[in-house]
Amino acid sequence: MRLLGVANSKLCFVLSLSLCASLLLLVGLQQWGPSDLQLSPPPGQPPQALGNASRHRGASKPGRLVSDPPSAAERERSRQRVAKPGKPLRTGVREKGLQGFGKEPAAADQLGAGSQELLWDAAPLHPSSNKHNMQLSDLFIAVKTTRKYHKARLDLLFQTWISLVQEQTFIFTDGEDKELREKAGDRMINTNCSAAHTRQALCCKMSVEYDKFIDSKKKWFCHVDDDNYVNIRSLLYLLSAYSHTQDVYIGRPSLDHPVEAAERVKSDGSTSVKFWFATGGAGFCISRGLALKMSPWASFGNFISTAEKIRLPDDCTIGYIIEGLLEVKMIHSDLFHSHLENLQQIPPPIIPRQVTLSYGSSEIKRNVLRVQGPFSLAEDPSRFKSIHCLLYHDAWCPAKDRH
Ligand code: UDP
Ligand code: MN
Repeated sequence: MRLLGVANSKLCFVLSLSLCASLLLLVGLQQWGPSDLQLSPPPGQPPQALGNASRHRGASKPGRLVSDPPSAAERERSRQRVAKPGKPLRTGVREKGLQGFGKEPAAADQLGAGSQELLWDAAPLHPSSNKHNMQLSDLFIAVKTTRKYHKARLDLLFQTWISLVQEQTFIFTDGEDKELREKAGDRMINTNCSAAHTRQALCCKMSVEYDKFIDSKKKWFCHVDDDNYVNIRSLLYLLSAYSHTQDVYIGRPSLDHPVEAAERVKSDGSTSVKFWFATGGAGFCISRGLALKMSPWASFGNFISTAEKIRLPDDCTIGYIIEGLLEVKMIHSDLFHSHLENLQQIPPPIIPRQVTLSYGSSEIKRNVLRVQGPFSLAEDPSRFKSIHCLLYHDAWCPAKDRH
């Protein structure tokens, strides 16, 4: 009996030992599983041979990426640094996506389907924020440009981020251009607005952008300037935290206080209205649900008369309609960037997860992001090519050993 008891306890000990060993083995396999092996190309092998796994999540260990991603703690620290530009912008509505780590939305997979390989797990999603099954085709991205920037600015965008979302990107310009027409087809829209950089001309373009978006039946309207880099993956992550049927207006305010304007739409101008607006130079997005509600003041040229009444530029007018008239709060996000801010202050480790980026092109006041390689500042003054190659292995990106 005693012997049997000893044998039993020995058996239990052996069994628990082997259980522990299998558990350890399982954990080990998860950490260093087959996807990792596929992710590390043998020396000299082109990155394109990485295989499907690199398009998906998990690219967060050293040695596997062109740019080393920061750890979770580093990301959070950096995020907090950027989120506090001296004075808090507002304590009100903040974006709810991009806060933690979780499952990615279906749309992110679609990005990997092209020739490019995603290299950086740019924007992890909080599991609870990934409930709206966002598709790439839900996006309508309006790029505002002007004839003289077709070559100087748009070419770079077509070479980089637009190549991922050609079908979703609509170019709003003011002059015909055979070459651009060949590239963009019907998605180049000649607004016939004046080519001047005046309030009226810019509002004219925004008015056409709005009408085209409504016609498109797409779920999300995002406006950017032709000096913005759009990180599509981050944008999808951000928007998939919301439903297009909700009232969503998200972007970055350029001021640390709301604008105050005389109320000339609802009343005779004797009272004033305070509202926030998302600066157009950093890009912003509006859900379809909200865009439809804007219709009385925005559709069929009404946008121009609304802007005239309050005598403010296009982006301010959007804020006025949404916050001032519809009383919907703008969501303030520090993931959108214009060259009005000091781009040098964005910590390099968090650059790959930002939604939009920009550059200040003036020779006198250069304002470029701190992005190391693969292109030199002379080869890539905007840093957009370098950012693109940090995010994707596009065919024209230099081989990894140049990094
Ligand atoms: N833009 C325009 N018409 C012009 C000049 C500029 O539509 O006559 C567009 C330009 O293509 C860009 C945006 O307006 O998308 C902002 O222009 P820019 O970056 O030159 O000026 P910023 O206001 O950012 O200093
Ligand atoms: Mn600009």
